Amino acid sequence: MAAGRDLNETLQDFLSACARFLLYAGAVAAVGAAGLLIFTIIRMADPGAASQTADALRNVGIFQNVLLVSVLAAGVGASYMFWGEDLLSGGLLILAAVLYFAPLYIPMMVANSDQNDAGRKSYEALQSAGTWLGVIAIIVVVADLFNRVRNRSKEGVKADLLKYGKGVKQEQDRENVFLGKCWQLPFCRKFVRERCPIYHSKRTCWKEQVGCMCEEQVIKGAMENRPIPKDALLAAQMIPRNHKLTPAQKKERCNVCVIYNEHQRHKYRALLPGVLAGFIAFYVLFRSPLMSGMTALVGQINKVMYGFTYGASGQQKIPVLFTEMLLVVFFLVALSYALKMIEYAVFKLKI
Ligand code: SF4
Ligand code: SF4
Repeated sequence: MAAGRDLNETLQDFLSACARFLLYAGAVAAVGAAGLLIFTIIRMADPGAASQTADALRNVGIFQNVLLVSVLAAGVGASYMFWGEDLLSGGLLILAAVLYFAPLYIPMMVANSDQNDAGRKSYEALQSAGTWLGVIAIIVVVADLFNRVRNRSKEGVKADLLKYGKGVKQEQDRENVFLGKCWQLPFCRKFVRERCPIYHSKRTCWKEQVGCMCEEQVIKGAMENRPIPKDALLAAQMIPRNHKLTPAQKKERCNVCVIYNEHQRHKYRALLPGVLAGFIAFYVLFRSPLMSGMTALVGQINKVMYGFTYGASGQQKIPVLFTEMLLVVFFLVALSYALKMIEYAVFKLKI
């Protein structure tokens, strides 16, 4: 066991060292290659440098490959090192946009914005690196979403944040009824249930604000084998009442109870398909107007850049594929925030 853990830790350390190397070496190489590509653009904008176009084209080919490999390495390294950090996908997306929009702002630094083949190829190299970094960012967003949803659906809030029923094993004799009452969930223990007034009255502990995880009387009744009438109304009269705590304090107990966490986990799983289906339906139904809006927005940014730089930039055409990709990114980011809001509402506010 210890040997297995050591092996695991060694592997983790090795992977972390690799990720660090990929991130730092990739970042240094990417900055260098991008800098040389920008230098080439500036140099090639000088009509006097036309005789160096062939040499420049050869160099651009090399810089392009270096930039692509280094951006991928840095992207993968950063994703491993900062996995789970909120800023990871946003940071990658911003860097991807900086590279992709190079043709919008680099012309500001160039006296003559007409470019020969080497200059144009340099722009393409920057944009291609930006596209691949964007792809990594999208993969990170999707994987993070998937991971988050899977963890929340599986365990709700983290076990160490729970106070009542912490460490209680799930019962095997109970079927976990989706959105069921407390006695239909797997934390209802058979020996307590048989003498539990909440079960016999067919009520729900969190509605009564008293139950087997928080109220001594319920457990005591089970230990003493106190008989409970089979009639639901009579059984309800046996539900213990705690007058020492306010309803708000009782609600606080539920918020950190394993049973209520299970109930909230069911709520979360019930809300998920609705939110996902809503987003997909919205995208499919409104794709056309959304694409028009996005194209107009990108055109507007282009126009603003053109105005701000007195025509020195912002004249490049933005491909439809990029606009679509941008729309998908906005959707994924919006979906990610919608899911975070549901998480917050269900697991923090305990709505
Ligand atoms: S209060 Fe506890 S023992 Fe009673 S029915 Fe609910 S989960 Fe079962
Ligand atoms: S804390 Fe709430 S959910 Fe847990 S047993 Fe008590 S009443 Fe039920």
